[in-house]
Amino acid sequence: MTNWQTPTYNLCMNGAIRTREKCCHPFQETSKGLRCPKYKARPETYYIDFWWKGDRIRVPRDKDGNIFTSYEAANRFLTVMRSKVDEKTFNPKDYIQVEVKKLEFATYAMAWVAHSPDMALNRP
Ligand SMILES: [Zn+2]
Repeated sequence: MTNWQTPTYNLCMNGAIRTREKCCHPFQETSKGLRCPKYKARPETYYIDFWWKGDRIRVPRDKDGNIFTSYEAANRFLTVMRSKVDEKTFNPKDYIQVEVKKLEFATYAMAWVAHSPDMALNRP
């Protein structure tokens, strides 16, 4: 580390990198990222857990729609989110996954129709 940068205080440190995956034990945060405490296995996918004015924002993809497949990629994105908070340009709408939400709703609606006899009968 070099000391030439001006120290900045009160930096936003909101957010954490997590995974939905589980190994034999829950993954733990280490200096090298998330690891299984027993076998040092790492998750294959990650998401960012971010708090904004009492709301929890989960970000599983970057701006190009790529799922985070490394801790480093998620961490880089989280750093950008934090710096936007510091710059006061953070907009949670930029990070809410509208398409994913729509997809989840469609899946839910189809499952509901499939389990509802009345709806099934009325189908063309
Ligand atoms: Zn394990």
